[in-house]
Amino acid sequence: MPRPITAVIHTQALCQNLEVIRQSVPESKVFAVVKANAYGHGIERVYESFKTADGFALLDIDEAKLLRALGWTGPILLLEGIFSPQDLFDCAQYQLSFTVHSEQQVVWLEQHQYPAQFDIFLKMNSGMNRLGFKPQQYREIWRQLSQSAHVATITHMMHFSDADGDRFGDQGIDYQLTEFETTIQGLPGERSVSNSAAILRYPHQIQSDYVRGGIMLYGSSPDYPGHSIQDWGLAPTMSLRSEIIAIQRLNANESVGYGSSFVAGQAMTIGIVACGYADGYQRISPTGTPVLVNGIRTQTIGRVSMDMLAVDLTPVTDAEVGSEVVLWGKSRTGTVLAIDEVAAASGTVGYELMCGVTARVTFINQQ
Ligand SMILES: *Cc1c(COP(=O)(O)O)cnc(C)c1O
Repeated sequence: MPRPITAVIHTQALCQNLEVIRQSVPESKVFAVVKANAYGHGIERVYESFKTADGFALLDIDEAKLLRALGWTGPILLLEGIFSPQDLFDCAQYQLSFTVHSEQQVVWLEQHQYPAQFDIFLKMNSGMNRLGFKPQQYREIWRQLSQSAHVATITHMMHFSDADGDRFGDQGIDYQLTEFETTIQGLPGERSVSNSAAILRYPHQIQSDYVRGGIMLYGSSPDYPGHSIQDWGLAPTMSLRSEIIAIQRLNANESVGYGSSFVAGQAMTIGIVACGYADGYQRISPTGTPVLVNGIRTQTIGRVSMDMLAVDLTPVTDAEVGSEVVLWGKSRTGTVLAIDEVAAASGTVGYELMCGVTARVTFINQQ
């Protein structure tokens, strides 16, 4: 039998989460963001559920080619644009739209020798300070590109740094949105602004002809702990499941695992789980990280090792070798452990956990 660790991808939940975007911003066209191999889920695994989106957004041309091979004929947007002038040949052949965020990319586009025309997304740096043209420069670049023989359409694009509201509360979007609106005033063209946090939190404040929904599609709340997936009506799309492969009875003062970092205060029963950091479970996750055994909530104890971790079986009276362990996601009993809770306990975000599941884990699709 293979080692019992699997990542179950819930296709019905993927559909449900896309529907939450539709209901939140019914006037907008929806790009399903599938970068990083669909946030670790696998592009082939999510494609059928996301086929009703208006487009797909990602970074790697190879992932774009995969979507074409799967039969997708609609829009595909490259979120970081082209990385070399040669990429324009692929963009022409595979009909890829792309972000233009730097002067270098403008030069490559203007120097392109073939008569191809592209739909571009001109990125404004409205305050995030990663990619894009500052407002002072934006209109001039827009004017230049709008006269280029290689440009079919220009969509105005920006990205929020604080739509999840950690730092500025409800004001997280105001500054950037004002910069954006003021700068593009009077220019024709559609707009692409909102990410998941903006879709959920500011559906009426932002005009975004194309929204770019990512993390919410994958059953993680962009503003956890402010809101949970239950608050937003989202369902978990990935369940990392394994099994108990051994049971130990600790006496008081006995420890478990490397470094003996957990010492039992009293006699207790613990389970050893076939899951470790080589599967993508974070080594940094401390004692107390939530986990489900037979659908019952308990916690990890001691240090996570490469292939194993230990869990407290005190609340799980029927636990035995072979009992189901859910590291995040949904138990066969229906109980949910949101990936956001595990991430928070580990000092990270759901994005990182779902992207980090490693190749040795068996993936399966389930309704
Ligand atoms: C990743 C990404 C998104 C999606 O963000 P989520 O927070 O996952 O919804 C949207 N726009 C750009 C430019 C991105 O890089």
